[in-house]
Amino acid sequence: MANFEFWNDGNTPLHPASAPDFVPRPQMEQMQLHRLQVMVRRAYENVPLFRGRCEERKVTPDDVKSLADIARLPFSVKSDLRDTYPYGLFASPLDDVVRIHASSGTTGKPIVVGYTKGDLEVWENVITRSLAAIGVRRGDVLHNAYGYGMFTGGLGLHNAQAMGVTVIPVGGGNTERQIMLLRDLGITVISCTPSYFLHILDEAAKVGLDFHSLPLKYGIFGAEPWTEEMRQRIEEASGIKAYDIYGLTEIIGPGVAMECTAQSGMHIFEDHFYPEVVDPETGEVLPDGETGELILTTLSKAATPMIRYRTRDITWLNREVCACGRTLRRIMRVSARSDDMLIIRGVNVFPSQIEAALMQVDAAAPHYQIIVTRENDLDRMEIEVEIRPEHASDEIKQMEALRLRMSQAIERITNIRAKVTLVQPNSLARSEGKAKRVKDLR
Ligand SMILES: [Zn+2]
Repeated sequence: MANFEFWNDGNTPLHPASAPDFVPRPQMEQMQLHRLQVMVRRAYENVPLFRGRCEERKVTPDDVKSLADIARLPFSVKSDLRDTYPYGLFASPLDDVVRIHASSGTTGKPIVVGYTKGDLEVWENVITRSLAAIGVRRGDVLHNAYGYGMFTGGLGLHNAQAMGVTVIPVGGGNTERQIMLLRDLGITVISCTPSYFLHILDEAAKVGLDFHSLPLKYGIFGAEPWTEEMRQRIEEASGIKAYDIYGLTEIIGPGVAMECTAQSGMHIFEDHFYPEVVDPETGEVLPDGETGELILTTLSKAATPMIRYRTRDITWLNREVCACGRTLRRIMRVSARSDDMLIIRGVNVFPSQIEAALMQVDAAAPHYQIIVTRENDLDRMEIEVEIRPEHASDEIKQMEALRLRMSQAIERITNIRAKVTLVQPNSLARSEGKAKRVKDLR
């Protein structure tokens, strides 16, 4: 049984906002049901799209009598936000909306979400609990390298100031300056995408800066899927602890779920976000422990409530009480998005499988690109992999052996034979936002 008042070292007080992280499940479920009923009624009365879908299914807010009844409600999907652009899903009048964020779609209009004052307080609350879960507290200095602006990453993590953390709103880009700040400002926490942190490490190495010599202790990495192997690489190369954070603009931004010091799954802040996992094909709800698509319902969001939002993220829910004492269910590492899945010669392949395979081969740098083409009706997959600088001058024979080991590792994991091409260090494009791993030219 966890001690609710103290951090798991037994001496340091836990941030008071963390109390809901430790409540017994029945108490949590009672709160969830009450909030769900209020939320469904709010969406039904204010969002015509949701009401119309409920009417088609002949369900009303009165039919939600238990948490299991959520399965009777219709799903919502990303295109709903585009189709009703800009304010069609808002359940609050603009008078009550104090912030707008947007996520850039790959085509056409962005998706737009709103926040009331209360919604911003919820965001502050879940970011505080996220950071408290990894041991960050007042006195820490956060280098926030997520992009500011309408993207939720920057202003999302910026909420850390509410718990007394010193926030440096660096934003993305200008890596040279980022390195200078990391060296000079006594920074103890960094937040950015994992691929951008690797880029910072590469650039720092060029100017002879060893991250082990810095006071930096924690990294908060999210906004793109990453693997356990990538975590090991980051932790070894920098001496920090690397933690996964989960969120999406449609729900609130970063802070929907966060790892704790146990590093074994991300706790969902279930008093604000109700999770389900469903079969991505049939939409049928799966029991905890089974893998499928994560569905999220906001339980407190006033401006843009989302009922049963299909995240496209593939994961499973773990309801065992965590080593940290938190009773919040965990989503296990999101290593795949159903959107990212490639179908190659009829076989499902995820970029994360390629990454895991490359990292089994010691010299594989984590910068790679997957190129899919079709020749004579046959799919071909080519993986361009950057060799690490220390191997750049290896002999051809050694290179050939390396290439072979990589293509064997890929075949073992995916059952697909891929052509592996080794390319010079730093020759693949670097992204300061989300890494683009796949070029599908079919
Ligand atoms: Zn935990």
